Amino acid sequence: MEITLQREKPTCNCGVFGIYGSEHASLETYYGLHALQHRGQEACGIVTRSIGTKGKPVFYGHKGEGLVTEVFEDHDIFQNKLIGKVAIGHNRYSTTGSAQSVKNIQPFTVNYRLGNLAVAHNGTLTNAKIIRDELVNEGAIFQTTSDTEVILHLIARSRLENQVEQIMEAIQKIDGAFSLVLMTDDKLVAARDQYGFRPLVIGKLNGAYIITSETCAFDLISAEFIREVEPGEIVVIDDEVLKTGEIKSYQISDTTSPQKHCIFEYIYFSRPDSFIFGHNVDKMRRRLGKILARNHPVYNEDEKKVIVISVPDSSNTTALGYQTELEKLGVNCRLEIGLIRSHYIGRTFIQPGQTNREIGVKIKFNTVKGVLEGRTVVIVDDSIVRGTTSRQLVKLIRDANPKSIHLRISSSPITHPCFYGMDFPSKEELIANNFNSNIPEMGKYLGVDSLEYLTVDEMLEAVSEAGKDNFCYACFSGKYPTEVDLDFKKEIYEL
Ligand code: SF4
Repeated sequence: MEITLQREKPTCNCGVFGIYGSEHASLETYYGLHALQHRGQEACGIVTRSIGTKGKPVFYGHKGEGLVTEVFEDHDIFQNKLIGKVAIGHNRYSTTGSAQSVKNIQPFTVNYRLGNLAVAHNGTLTNAKIIRDELVNEGAIFQTTSDTEVILHLIARSRLENQVEQIMEAIQKIDGAFSLVLMTDDKLVAARDQYGFRPLVIGKLNGAYIITSETCAFDLISAEFIREVEPGEIVVIDDEVLKTGEIKSYQISDTTSPQKHCIFEYIYFSRPDSFIFGHNVDKMRRRLGKILARNHPVYNEDEKKVIVISVPDSSNTTALGYQTELEKLGVNCRLEIGLIRSHYIGRTFIQPGQTNREIGVKIKFNTVKGVLEGRTVVIVDDSIVRGTTSRQLVKLIRDANPKSIHLRISSSPITHPCFYGMDFPSKEELIANNFNSNIPEMGKYLGVDSLEYLTVDEMLEAVSEAGKDNFCYACFSGKYPTEVDLDFKKEIYEL
């Protein structure tokens, strides 16, 4: 049986990339998607715009299931197929719609009354089902089961005569989380919801403009970061902008809306080398580690140094912050590489059965036994979802004969679903719900000598430089910043 190892972290973010005015638009989009691969590994696609033989704009696309390097294995397509100076691209985990459906791979394109249109979306629209039902009742035929398609329908059905105005009109009808890039026959348009749940940044490369999810995509192609797309803002790039250098900007919603950035972007999703929500992710992740150490330290049990290790790679920076602060607290400690992670798993053959399920973790991680043997070991991780992987990981570390194992988590227990673009397993599968958030009992189940999480207040304290009130933390608290329909997710999957 060939299976993909069960994801031990929340999934379903996506990465978006758009570029206007570059001779190598598709290739740069490919590199951008490569840098954003962590935001979605199920599928990806690129759509470009060129001028056809009849002098009219033509859209060209290529998409498929798999990693960016797999989908764009044939490099000739950048020369021969994906031509033009404008492009948008998308990396995907499925948030709504069947993960298996090739039709759901973005960017989506349509040809309608005012021309061509392509869209790539990161987030989840909380009222997509309602809009979709209305449109279907009016005769609309949907091609996909994705919430993103409703945006195209709303734009295509608008009676306005200007594409940007049509996009603005459509955006005023959608709710929830969206960081969007859209391509029209003569423009690149980007929009971010009024809460700013997901990041969206603007950059420049040799006169071309880029709009993408994270700044790490700029670094790979040596583009310069200009600014973030503000919550509630629409940005338009066209030939005029290339000439004047003045980005066209429109406010689509009340500027006084509270910002509600996804705190999980700082905890786990975004890359530590990115700059989002006004700050470096690396700095915020270190702060989470520091606050974790300050509030949940592990002290020496003997004269030997406490060994702090991360669960690579997402917890590396947090572990660094934890160890630095622990040392400041006077604990004799050292940051070590105690777990080695294989980056070459892909789809791995695993026999069914309990013993072989354990091999899943062993394929991914191995211990550096000399580092752990006889030591007080602190494992720093960013989150626990089901707990099954953490439990197997602890067993693996226990096999290396440490003196004791202490697990420290740089987020609060996950207890609620996300309605803004992240996919957690069902409530019944979440370890925190199964143990009623009883942390000592969860620790016993995981097989550690102690387990501590950050509280919600401690988490918010860690990110307070970006404004304590500016974050969504609903999956840890059930306090959703917008109205949500608790049946929404179930329904949309049944489309
Ligand atoms: S519910 Fe959790 S994952 Fe979803 S946006 Fe809020 S903080 Fe992020």
